[in-house]
Parts: sequence; C-alpha cells; structure tokens
Amino acid sequence: MDLEYLDLIRVLASLAVIAAGAFWGGRRLVHLVRLLGRARPMPDRWGGWGEKIRYQFRHVLGQQKILQWSTPGVLHALIFWGFIILQSQSLEAIGEVFDPNFAIPLVGRNDVLGFLQDLFTIAVLVAVAGFALIRLIQDPARLGRTSRFEGSNLQQGWYVLLAESGLLYTVLVLRGVRATKGTLPYPDGAFLSDWVGQQFAGLPEPSLEVIATAFLVAHLAVLMGFFVFTVHSKHLHIFTIPFNVLFARQPKALGKLQSEIIDLETMDEDTVLGVGQMEHFGFKRYLDMYTCTECGRCQSQCPAWNTGKPLNPKLLIMDLRDHLYEKAPYVLDPSLANRDNGNVGGHEDVDVLGQMLVGDEPGQQNAVIDYDVLWSCTTCGACVEECPVDIEHVDHIIDLRRYKVQMESSFPQEAGGMLRNIENSGDPWGLGATKRMDWAEGLQVPIVDGRIPDDVEYLFWVGCAGALEDRAKKVTRGLAELLDAAGVSYAVLGPRETCTGDPARRIGMEYLFQMMARQNVETLKEVGARKIVAWCPHCFNTLRNEYPDFDGHFEVIHHTQLLSQLIVQGRLNPRSEVAKKVTYHDPCYLGRHNEVYDPPRAVVDSVQGLEKVEMPRCRNHGFCCGAGGARMWMEETIGKRVNHERIDEALELRPDLVSTACPYCMVMLDDAVNDKAGRGELAEGQVKVVDVSQILAESLLPVAAVNGASGHPSVTAHQGDTAPESAARQ
Ligand code: SF4
Ligand code: SF4
Repeated sequence: MDLEYLDLIRVLASLAVIAAGAFWGGRRLVHLVRLLGRARPMPDRWGGWGEKIRYQFRHVLGQQKILQWSTPGVLHALIFWGFIILQSQSLEAIGEVFDPNFAIPLVGRNDVLGFLQDLFTIAVLVAVAGFALIRLIQDPARLGRTSRFEGSNLQQGWYVLLAESGLLYTVLVLRGVRATKGTLPYPDGAFLSDWVGQQFAGLPEPSLEVIATAFLVAHLAVLMGFFVFTVHSKHLHIFTIPFNVLFARQPKALGKLQSEIIDLETMDEDTVLGVGQMEHFGFKRYLDMYTCTECGRCQSQCPAWNTGKPLNPKLLIMDLRDHLYEKAPYVLDPSLANRDNGNVGGHEDVDVLGQMLVGDEPGQQNAVIDYDVLWSCTTCGACVEECPVDIEHVDHIIDLRRYKVQMESSFPQEAGGMLRNIENSGDPWGLGATKRMDWAEGLQVPIVDGRIPDDVEYLFWVGCAGALEDRAKKVTRGLAELLDAAGVSYAVLGPRETCTGDPARRIGMEYLFQMMARQNVETLKEVGARKIVAWCPHCFNTLRNEYPDFDGHFEVIHHTQLLSQLIVQGRLNPRSEVAKKVTYHDPCYLGRHNEVYDPPRAVVDSVQGLEKVEMPRCRNHGFCCGAGGARMWMEETIGKRVNHERIDEALELRPDLVSTACPYCMVMLDDAVNDKAGRGELAEGQVKVVDVSQILAESLLPVAAVNGASGHPSVTAHQGDTAPESAARQ
C-alpha cells in the first residue's frame, strides 16, 4: 500500500474515533455537570483550600485509605499510579496521529519518563491480572452467594479489566514498532518497548507502518471507548473522586452532623426542612452518588446490614443514584412534569415523578428508600469511616430523616415519646429536672448556683442517662467520687442541665435539637462554663462538635480523657490487682466520631492484674452497640439484635468484664448479657458490663482503704484521705 494513503487513513480513522468518543462521552459529562448545578448549594464546602489540597495529595494521590486494604488496596494503588503515568503514552499516541516523531514537549525525550512508562506498564499488567484472579476466586455465583451485581454490574468489572489490558497491549505494540523504526523518543530508558521492538526487527518498513497504524487506531478506539463507558457507568468515579474528596467535610464527615440552620424568622409555608425529593439534596450528595465505586466496604462494617436489617449503605447510595439518573430530565427541566406522566427517563415501568424518596411504611412499592432502611441506621459512622472515596452516608440519612420527621411526622412512633419527653421534661425518659440529682444522694456534689467560681476547674456534664438511668447512675456516682479523690474541683448544673438534643438531632428532629442547643448554650454561658467533662460520648460529641455552630465554644473532654490524665499525673494511683479478663468495647461516638481510642484503654492499662483482650472489631473498625441514631428508643424487630451480635463477639473471648465508656453502650450490652443469662446461655453474674472508671475504682479502693491508714494513700484525696465510696462498696 502506498504509505501516503496509509498516512491519510491513519489521520482520518484516528480523528473519527476521537471525535465520536469525545462527542458521546462529552455529552454525558455535560449532562452530569448540568445536573450537579441543579443541586442545592453548600456554602460550607467552599474554603479551607490549603487543607483540602493537602488532603487531596494524601488521600487521592497518596492512596492513603485504599492502601489499608492489603492486596486489593495495593493493586488498586498500582493501577491508579500507573494510569497517571500511562496517560503520557496515550498523549504520545494522539500526537503520533499527526507526527510520527512526536514527543511530549519538555519531558518527552527524557529516558526517566520512558523507563517509568514501561515500569508501570508491567505494574499495571500485574495488578490487572491480580484483580482478574480475585474476581475469579470471589465470584459470588461460584461461591454460591447471591449478589445484586450478577449480570451487567458484574460484567462491568470484566469490561474494565479487558479495556485496561487492551490499552496496555495496543500501546506496547505501538511503542515497540516506534522503537524498531527509531522514532521512540527514549534512546535508553524504555526497556520493555525496546524488547517488544526487537520482536519486529527485520520486518520491512511498509509492514511496520501498517502495524503501527492498526495499533494506533486500535489504541485510540479502546481509549475513547473506555472514556465513553466510564462516564456512563459506575466507573465515573475515576473522574469524580478528586472532586468528591475536595468537597468532603474535613477531617471527615463524622462527629458533628451537617447543620441545617433553621431560621425561625424567615420560615414560611414554602420552607422545606430536610430532603423530600432529589432536588433538595446539596451538591456534595449528588457527587457522592456519582462517586460510589460499589466496593462494598461500607456494607461490610454496617451493624444494620450485618445483623440482617434491610439497610445497606452501599445500596442506599446506589438506589439514590439510580433515582437521580431516572429523574434527571425533570430535575433539569421541571416543566417536563406537566408534559408527560413521568416516563421521560425511558423507564416505562417506573413512574419517576410518582415515587417518594422514603416510604411511610415497610415495603411501600413506590418508595426509592424503604422505611426500614432509613430507620435501621444507628449513625455509628462505620460506613463513612470505611468508604475510600469520602461518601457521607450519615448525612444522607439524616437529611432524609429530617424531612420525614419534620415535614411529614412519619417515623417509628415508639420514638415519639422520647421527643415529647425532651421537649416537655428536658430528658428522653420524661423524669424531669427534680430527679436530676438523685444519683448524688449522700454525696457532697457542688451544684452551680449563679456563676461557676474561679477555683472550680470543670463543669461535670452528667447527661440524661448518667443522671436518670439506674445502671448509668452508679457510674456517675463513682465518677464523682473519683474526681473528689483526685482533688479535681468540679460542679454540676443539677436541675438546670437538660438533654443536649443528640437523640432528637439523630432521629431528624432538627428543630427540637436546635431549641435544646440554644437553651443549653445560654445556660452554659450564663454560668461561665469554660472546661466541661462529659461522661456520655453523645453529650461529649454534641457539646464539643455541634454547639460551636450555636456560639457555644467550650473546652470539652470525655471522662476517660480526664481519668487517664489524672493517672499520669499520679493523682489517681491504682495499686490493687484486679485478676480478671477484660475486653473493651469502643463507643462509636467516642471512638470513630471523635477518635478517642487510647484514653479508655489507658485507664484499663493502668490497672494491674487484668488480662486485656481486644475484640476483632475494635478501635476505628469497632462494632456498634445498636443504641445510636436514636435507635435506643426504637423497637428492633428485624434480624439479630445489634447488641446481641456485639456481646457474642465479646463472649468469644470469654471475658469476666466487658468494659466500655458510654452509658448507652453499657445499657445495651448489659441488656444483651441479661438476655443471654435469661436464656441460660450465661450463668448469672458470669460476665459483668462495666464502665472503665469502675475498674479503675475497684483497683484504687481496697488498697486506698489499707494504705490510707498506713500513710501510703493510693489516691491524692480531695475530701479527706478516705477512699471513694463506690469502690468501697464493691
Ligand atoms: S452509620 Fe452505621 S448503621 Fe448507619 S449505614 Fe452507616 S454503618 Fe450502617
Ligand atoms: S465504601 Fe463508599 S465507595 Fe464503597 S460501596 Fe460503600 S459508599 Fe460506595
């Protein structure tokens, strides 16, 4: 064939492939960007760019989170880094369409680049082969598991591996031919391309040109096909991850909830609270939907999913995404709703406009998200913690709850009492202010009267459970005695303390939460609170992370942080051995939401004689007790009880004590132990659920009682040299 004709064919065929891919893929990208523009703005996501960019480097370029998942993580990172480098090869291929001697300006003739290109070609090939192997080994059908991803979704994974292999194969042959012709711009570095080129040695030039043209057009066809496929599939995440990470809450979407500041002054009948339809979501929620890689890491840790509830955080995001795509034409052009019956999305079997986002009862057919899915969440944050691409599941769930509760009054009615009690009595149990100091009966606990005196260091925030729940009250009492014994000056608000509003906020009753928050901030400012020690992690989280949005800025620590400091300072000196086996359960709102993992363990570690064992799911991978997200006040009728699942994990270790640092966790785990004892699976008293402070007290007191008399007190006593009462009682 005449080489001039071949040149013409190469240029025309390449341009046709590039133009078709750019048109088809570009049209989809424009559609997605326009859709994103219709979401609600989220002004709080703009700014703090320095930290965001540093995070981007660590998280996206550094693949920090991905690398935590051993083999697949390393393979994924290799593919990611490889494809950044290998983009330069595709760029060279595009340049070669017009100039057979093309080299990337500035760096395109540097042997180091040629070497890296070939090195990463091998690395990516190894990673692709590794993923293919994993797919074969973990094929759900072969393992006898059912999977929603059988069929097209499962095949998508194979398409991607095939496309990646195709890209590498075509570009490698292309480079090999260039090496043979002497037009590869890397004289020494491209070792693999040179080796491939040796296989073509001796072929006449016309044959080399035909091979080069064929593989150039093939490479561009695979490249553009991959682009088109990517923007039309879940692999869209390749493009959206950097943006999703850029606009993620820093340092992560745990701790405080995304605020929905309700302005009573400007509220009218058109005000929408929460999210009742797609158009109400903020743009980061759309980005989340675009970005889910369907890796399933969130579901693997979700306490709801792992105990047989219908909630699966991955499917939740995917269902919302499917609905968004179906409803997109109406979101982009609301006037369409008047013109057709809701089938413009091309899904004749789905009445998109007739669908509600969340059902009002289980199993409702025209709901995108089932009622039981929404109300199964404990807001434990495991999904957010695990998600490698910073999807904010809890915020999605709370957005939806806010609408159901505040706009439709549609929520598990058994939780209604809790909301009424908070509103009327200031606590979820409805016991009222007069009962708030019952826990301190017989103790000299100072109650703030007016302003907190300057010589009082801490305001001890007791919390509703700590003040009113019988098991938690014992811990509160013991804590007060430990503070006394260590010489910590503190005072409590007593009857002026009310619920922080945490359960109201987590169920979606933002209005009530904000009422409580404003009231508490006012009280705290009035008494001049500076440093607050909270015993309940939910109060701790709310006071520390959420009240600043209501102008409540205090130094807030958890009781385990204070106790561990007091131990280090020698103000609490545990000496008596406690010869028991103990495990520690991380409360979600202390651990994952606030990253307080070590202080409670330090309290336990300070006690001699204990045999300490960790549960497999611990620290940031800890498993919820089932009480968060206002689940404490909802019935649990589906699947296995979450607290039973957790206690079973603890009991595998055969402990004497299951320790924790949260009144909710204590109650839930204790209930589970009692259930087991009631069924004869445990002997009465065989396992005790305790707060870590109770173990500390046990190790302090017997020795204190003895040593106090002999002049070697184990604690620096605040009110005389006597030992804390609670420990003495033990
Ligand atoms: S917050 Fe916890 S319970 Fe809720 S979806 Fe995430 S992992 Fe599941
Ligand atoms: S962990 Fe994140 S990316 Fe993976 S399935 Fe869950 S939401 Fe999607």
